[in-house]
Amino acid sequence: SKEKSGTYHHFFRSEMNDRNLENIILENALYKALEKEELVIYYQPQIDSRTKEMIGAEALLRWNHPTEGMISPIHFIPIAEETGLIVPIGKWVLANACKQLKQWHMRGYSNMTVSVNLSGRQFEEDDLISMVKSILVETDIAPEFLHIELTENQIFKNTEVTLEKMRELKRLGVKIALDDFGTGYSSLGYLKNFPIDTLKIDRSFMLDIVKDKDNAAITDTIITLSRNLGLNVIAEGVETEEQLAFLRAKQCSIMQGYYFSKPIEAGELAKKYLNHL
Ligand code: C2E
Ligand code: CA
Ligand code: CA
Ligand code: CA
Repeated sequence: SKEKSGTYHHFFRSEMNDRNLENIILENALYKALEKEELVIYYQPQIDSRTKEMIGAEALLRWNHPTEGMISPIHFIPIAEETGLIVPIGKWVLANACKQLKQWHMRGYSNMTVSVNLSGRQFEEDDLISMVKSILVETDIAPEFLHIELTENQIFKNTEVTLEKMRELKRLGVKIALDDFGTGYSSLGYLKNFPIDTLKIDRSFMLDIVKDKDNAAITDTIITLSRNLGLNVIAEGVETEEQLAFLRAKQCSIMQGYYFSKPIEAGELAKKYLNHL
């Protein structure tokens, strides 16, 4: 009927308005960014609390846009996930982070690890495991040096499928870290069933950690929980001497944050942390 098609028309138009023009332009540019080699990986060191040495680095994606400059992943990862572009982009990140790690290994830093963020969307791909496997083979990286970071929310979007793939990754020998821990659908029960090696304490808990009793208690509890469950623990967003002192007193083994370094280019990281490169 006339009324029905009118309603449909209205619905269609309002949907078009919701997906604003800016997003469509961004989506097209992002599609080309990969082949135009505009994507870059920055690395942020992960520091051993006791020795203060770098033990690994997290790969963090950047888009070096020709006119907009360096664009943060928080602006384009959601669009990449929505469109599925995160699949080829994520593969590119994984391959290049492993290639970079191989160089560090070959130059004598043979215990270094690399942490790569994977989107829940990538876990929906049937060939995720074979993709990871072939990248490890091609780059000649032993699986335990690759750490995959996933958030609780990403796991819960598609629990069954994601959980099975996490188990397969574990069987491969890859390590798995739970990112932004404490901010998602935190249920402690799943820590028992999920194949996890590391908890990353979300950086929101670092805020005023010395004065804020709640944040101090939560951080302390996550560190203790990790120890009791036999998991590694990484504190994210460490920016100050006070936070560092607190975390060391609580025996948090690994730290990451601006106090040590912002995410930087691989060459810069080598200059700063890998002395004889
Ligand atoms: P994330 O995985 O939680 O990464 C940590 C974020 O905190 C990074 O932001 C990092 O630059 C920032 N950060 C590190 N130390 C500090 C600190 O001391 N203080 C403050 N204020 N911030 C700190 P970035 O690089 O903008 O990345 C944002 C998010 O984008 C990441 O959060 C991650 O969820 C996502 N992301 C980045 N690269 C990739 C990727 O290759 N694939 C996917 N799927 N997601 C990615
Ligand atoms: Ca992460
Ligand atoms: Ca995080
Ligand atoms: Ca985050």
